[in-house]
Amino acid sequence: MTMNIVEKIIEAHRVSGERIAGKEIGIRIDQTLTQDATGTMAFLQFESMGIDRVRTEVSVSYVDHNTVQVGYENADDHAYLQSAAQKFGVIFSKPGNGICHQLHLERFGKPGKTLLGADSHTPTGGGLGMIAIGAGGIDVAVAMGGGAFNLICPKVYQVWLTGALSAGVSAKDVALKVLEILGTKGNVNVMVEYAGPGVKTLSVPSRATMTNMGAELGVTTSVFPSDDITKQFLEAQGRGGDWTELVADEGATYDRVIAIDLAAVEPMAACPHSPGNIATIASLKGKKVNQVVIGSCTNSSYRDLKTVATMLKGKKVSPDIDFGIAAGSRQVVMMLMKEGLYADLVSAGARILENACGFCIGNHYSPGSRGVSVRTSNRNFEGRSGTGNAEVYLVSPETAVATAVAGAFADPRECAAVAVQEPVAFDIDDSQFLFRETAGVGVPATVIRRGPNIGEAPCGTPVSENLEGVVAIKVGDKITTDHVMPAGQRLKYRSNVPAYSRYVFEGVDPDFATRAAANRDAGKANVIVAGESYGQGSSREHAALCPMYLGVKAVVAKSMERIHNANLVNFGIVPFMFENPADYDNLDTNDALDIKGLATAIAGDGKAILRNLTKNRDIPVKAELSLRAKSILLAGGLMRHVAQQAH
Ligand code: SF4
Repeated sequence: MTMNIVEKIIEAHRVSGERIAGKEIGIRIDQTLTQDATGTMAFLQFESMGIDRVRTEVSVSYVDHNTVQVGYENADDHAYLQSAAQKFGVIFSKPGNGICHQLHLERFGKPGKTLLGADSHTPTGGGLGMIAIGAGGIDVAVAMGGGAFNLICPKVYQVWLTGALSAGVSAKDVALKVLEILGTKGNVNVMVEYAGPGVKTLSVPSRATMTNMGAELGVTTSVFPSDDITKQFLEAQGRGGDWTELVADEGATYDRVIAIDLAAVEPMAACPHSPGNIATIASLKGKKVNQVVIGSCTNSSYRDLKTVATMLKGKKVSPDIDFGIAAGSRQVVMMLMKEGLYADLVSAGARILENACGFCIGNHYSPGSRGVSVRTSNRNFEGRSGTGNAEVYLVSPETAVATAVAGAFADPRECAAVAVQEPVAFDIDDSQFLFRETAGVGVPATVIRRGPNIGEAPCGTPVSENLEGVVAIKVGDKITTDHVMPAGQRLKYRSNVPAYSRYVFEGVDPDFATRAAANRDAGKANVIVAGESYGQGSSREHAALCPMYLGVKAVVAKSMERIHNANLVNFGIVPFMFENPADYDNLDTNDALDIKGLATAIAGDGKAILRNLTKNRDIPVKAELSLRAKSILLAGGLMRHVAQQAH
């Protein structure tokens, strides 16, 4: 039987269900990754499972999101993560080592393996030929304990690449081209597989840039073949033994085929405020810019920053531009330094930022008010940069350099953009990865360090038969998890759910948390009403966990993103869709409502009538739930479900 790459990896890891698109399957997870924003809660949840050691082949705990230590909270979280990693046999990546996806690609990813990460850009690993999926921290905690990951068996789209990229055009432009074709909506339960003669013109870091931004398509993941290019990359990382060839069988079939001629791709940008709002750089040329930032897990590889340094050599950035660069890893920094390229960056006027997420998640380096910021990162949602009224454009490193020098959008094809060759040998120094033996030097192996910011992992409650409640908030389309749970300066409360819950929907409705808590304390269930694509963006499960803490029992939306939908179920919140999207107009904040027979509906076909008591209207809603999702909701969330299964 012929199989494509997705089918091969899934088949090799399938532990339950039938491999039929649209049906739920369970797959074995070989590797996991967590980062500090999601990892503390994932490890708290893992602790509560009572398992003494992870049961994966490799699990890595990275610290890359909250590395700005203003106050004790972040440092305490790092200490907690380090000690928990030591106790449970997880590799710990120290703060300053780099960004999880870049590091995992460099040091741990393996073709043909499955990787589950508590971060939505985990699909970066697809550049190495892995099925790498982003999920909520609780799903990753279960996988660390040896549990299967359940997902909807995907449709598979093939992107057939021909030709080769022109000078000044790079993988980011291709990723943006794919976004232009597929958009950010309607790709749920799809995996993208790259193929064609153009594949071998792309290095592994370039492939990883494309699979990284597959997250913005809303697909489950994206994957490249594992070929000679992959082998060379792994050999250069001193990991040639990790290579296996992985290609689709001759005659393998796909649900959709998209053809892209790389030679025809031109420099592109994602314009404010969506990665799917695509324009050509030619159409933006001359538009004034205030800030340029290069980095993030999308474009911070050695290939990217050497390209930047080479383009900048002997030049200065425009005096009007605030220019920052954050490398993806220490390996990248060390190689740039040894080759003298760091000097070219500094000489050109770059502010050197830490090898971390930093600017990408709005932790620092926010643009000025109404600033135009041009970035090589992957998300430009309103406010994510930390400045609510800034305009953020997403571009390639080549476009970023051309723009930084010109002071306005500029076409990199008009600059001397060079083709950077991958090194024969990367600079390898794993000393900032702490393996179990070294993770807690001087600290007894069983002691987990808990600062005062480390709380407990709260549990949900089983779905009730009758829900009586209120519309706690009505929001519009494209509400991201950043809207629900602000990051930036608030992210330091991620290990303390009662404290973090005070900021739910802070930028949308600052009174929400107080109102929702009052409803909860008065015995009323809170319901969120939303438009299209609710919960897009980051995999942040606090966007379900903190609303749960505030007594949210259901979300009713026109449509919802995959990871957030799963996160709601994991925390006992029912993810309803309107049967008739026009009924969105028949609900307003503070409307009283009830749902009779809710638990029975969840156990059955998921259909229920939401009665708007204030407007005297019946609104049909439906939750599309697998058998497993039903039992999780009826149990009161995944933690309770796991506990029930264990007994
Ligand atoms: S998208 Fe940004 S915040 Fe998320 S992992 Fe990548 S660099 Fe970090």
